[in-house]
Amino acid sequence: MSITVTNITKTFGPQKALDDVSFSINKGEIVGFLGPNGAGKSTMMRILTTYYKADTGDAEVNGFDVLTSETDVQKSIGYLPEHNPLYLEMYVKEYLAFNADVYQISKSKIGEVIEQTGLTPESHKKIGQLSKGYRQRVGLAAALLHDPEVLILDEPTTGLDPNQLVEIRKLIREIGKEKTILLSTHIMKEVEAVCDRVIIISKGKLVADKKLEELRESEEQIIEVEFDYRVEEQLLNQLPNVSNVKNTGGFVYEITFATSKDMRPAVFDFAHDNQLKTLQLSRKNKNLESLFSELTA
Ligand code: ADP
Ligand code: MG
Repeated sequence: MSITVTNITKTFGPQKALDDVSFSINKGEIVGFLGPNGAGKSTMMRILTTYYKADTGDAEVNGFDVLTSETDVQKSIGYLPEHNPLYLEMYVKEYLAFNADVYQISKSKIGEVIEQTGLTPESHKKIGQLSKGYRQRVGLAAALLHDPEVLILDEPTTGLDPNQLVEIRKLIREIGKEKTILLSTHIMKEVEAVCDRVIIISKGKLVADKKLEELRESEEQIIEVEFDYRVEEQLLNQLPNVSNVKNTGGFVYEITFATSKDMRPAVFDFAHDNQLKTLQLSRKNKNLESLFSELTA
């Protein structure tokens, strides 16, 4: 296990930022840590990186306890903080050399991480001259210098333009082939684009922990249909794969199907077979987005 979190609670004054949170992450997984602003994502990441101490509960990174083996935990983690403070007056290579000194590692790693993060064309510049996307690469390069097993990335794509976003996500996926990654975000598309698994927190509580694959498989669809006349709900219930039928007013019905196969044709045929006219029909997927809004509302 790369990360194990057991019953972590953290309060700031009267406020519970984390409330009895537990999860574990296997070696090699890329896990999205999803939640609205203020949910407790950064707080959890700071506990894992040993910058905060939890009130109660335990956490281990790479087998090391965050309370008793701080140095080993820090050596195991590459951390990209939420608002990564970079020295704008420093040159890229100078900044990485400074970090290499802090970690007491060979300067030869610098060229390697520059290449790995696609910084080569900008590596002669001052950090202040770089775009936000390239600054994030510098942050990632610094996090990778000591070749940690685990990467903790706090909202790594916030503030990037759409092109930079695609590039950084690609880079994270690439790095994720060799490392365990916990990355926080409040963007669901990001989780779908990058992660194997999603952990959702809301108001300090863990509300979901699911494999993306599972979410895709368990995809439910809801078809909203309006007929020109009343239909017995039990008749609609006879359609294949129906899990729920609800009349939402007038002759409008919300039919939930437990399948990812498009059920609209079946509903059209149903109307035809029962001498009904279909006035309108729309299909919604019950995916990560609806799960998120259900759980964090
Ligand atoms: P997220 O990263 O999910 O947006 P945070 O972990 O930053 O959420 O914050 C969770 C809650 O804890 C917020 O209400 C925030 O105001 C509070 N909080 C975080 N850090 C501190 C701190 N150092 N002092 C007081 N409150 C804090
Ligand atoms: Mg945060």
